[in-house]
Order: sequence, then structure tokens, then C-alpha cells
Amino acid sequence: MSKSVLITGGARGIGAATAIYFARKGYKVAITYNKSIYGAKALKETMELNGCEFYAIACDVKNPLQVESAVKQTVSAFGGLDVMVNNAGISLQKLITDTTDEDWQNIISTNLSGVFYGCRAAAKAMVAQKSGSIVNISSIWGISGASMEVAYSATKAGIIGLTKALAKELGPSGIRVNCVAPGVIDTEMNANLDISAFAALADDTPLGRIGTADEVASAIYYLADDASFITGQVLGTDGGII
Ligand code: NDP
Repeated sequence: MSKSVLITGGARGIGAATAIYFARKGYKVAITYNKSIYGAKALKETMELNGCEFYAIACDVKNPLQVESAVKQTVSAFGGLDVMVNNAGISLQKLITDTTDEDWQNIISTNLSGVFYGCRAAAKAMVAQKSGSIVNISSIWGISGASMEVAYSATKAGIIGLTKALAKELGPSGIRVNCVAPGVIDTEMNANLDISAFAALADDTPLGRIGTADEVASAIYYLADDASFITGQVLGTDGGII
């Protein structure tokens, strides 16, 4: 029987690449979307044309009830939840002195609380079935810290702590919890960078280039499905930058 995955923020960027990657591996796929309703519809068409059982669920990850409901809808549609990918996130590039209370609350609620809500809802379903795997999306900046990205770095470091603690809590129930820490990846999140900024970042990367969403999807799939004795880990997907 096909396995099932739920990916938050799956209508574009790394989330959409991950949805396609899991579909190619034979998974039944559900994604959540917030603003990208057209992206979600387009992805649904592509998935269904290729024979994938697919659901797109509207969900703001800042809202715990909506996240809980997305997990419940997935479990009910697919008869269980094998993999949860907590991918949805936003960036913020500001000096700390320019970062408002609203900026801080917004990024904490989206990036950190959103992952917490996703993990909590998935844990309820997975503990009941005594199996499952969760992959959270952190960032290299959660490991090393980035100048002018204090709030973003704090959320991504928080995801690493959450992942390690939850791996210990859920291991005895047969559930693995890991995270990927991507480097600079070519998605809309970096649309504000100009060509010279991209070139400088590529120069700082030992592999000499920035990464693709598909390369992150492959690392997520590895942790989710292949890495059966790996839990509580942070997999750098960064071309060697850290
Ligand atoms: P994009 O900006 O391309 O996509 C962001 C995704 O997050 C969208 O699917 C968006 O959904 C979703 N999202 C944002 N806010 C919310 C919300 N409140 N509720 C639900 N969904 C939301 O970024 P990437 O694909 O690049 O990023 C995906 C993840 O990877 C993020 O967690 C990011 O921090 C992380 N990452 C990215 C890196 C990069 O260089 N690109 C590097 C390291 C980590 P919608 O469009 O429907 O609103």
C-alpha cells in the first residue's frame, strides 16, 4: 500500500519540489497552502495527471486549529500519516534595531509555532499508529546565525532544539524526527537577491553554486523514508558552506 505524506507550504518552492519528489516515489501526497491557491490548483492538476492521489488543504500555519485540521483531513483521506514535512516559513532581513515587535511575533508564529503545531498534530496521529517520520526545515542560519537575520536565525535554531527533543520523546513510539538545514536555495524566498549577491553566495559555497529545491527535496526524502536508524539529526543541505 502507498505511503502518505503531508507537506506544509507545498504549493511552491521547496515544498512543491518535495511534493513532486514524494509523488515520484509512489506516495499519496497532501500539501497545505496559505496564499498560493493558484499554485496549489496547478500542482493538483499535474499530480492527478500523473496518477498521484493528491489533496491541497488551505491552512495558515500560525493557526493551531487549522494545522490540526489539515493533519486530521490527511489522516482521514489516506487512512494514516507516514510522513509529516514542516516546511512553511518566511524570511526577514532587518537589523535588530529595525525589527518591530510585530515582525518578531510574526516570524516566531510562522516559523517556530507553525512547526510546533505541525509536530504536535502529527505526533497525535503517529503515536496512535506507532510509526511515522517527521522532517522539519531549519536553515544553515539556525546553526551559524546570520547578520541582519536575528529573528529568522532564532526561529531556525529553535526548530533544531525542538527536533532533537522530540526525537527523544517519540523514538520509543517508533517515530523518527529529523531536520534539514538548507544553505542558499534558488526559490522565491531569495527573489530579493540580485545577480551579484547570488554570485557572492555561490563563491562562499565550497561546491561553487547555490542549491536547487529538488536537491533539498531529495535530502528530505532520505531522512523521511530511507534513514531508518537516524533520528534527532540535522542534515546540512548547503554545498558545504557550514
Ligand atoms: P518560498 O518563499 O518559496 O515558500 C514559502 C512557503 O511557505 C510557501 O509555500 C508559503 O505558502 C508558505 N508559508 C509562508 N507563510 C505561511 C503561513 N503563515 N501559513 C502557511 N504557509 C505559509 O520559500 P522556500 O521554498 O525557499 O522555503 C521553504 C522553507 O525552507 C522555509 O521554511 C525556509 O525558511 C526554508 N529555507 C529556505 C532556504 C532558501 O534559501 N530558499 C534556505 C534555508 C531554509 P503560500 O505561498 O501558500 O502562502
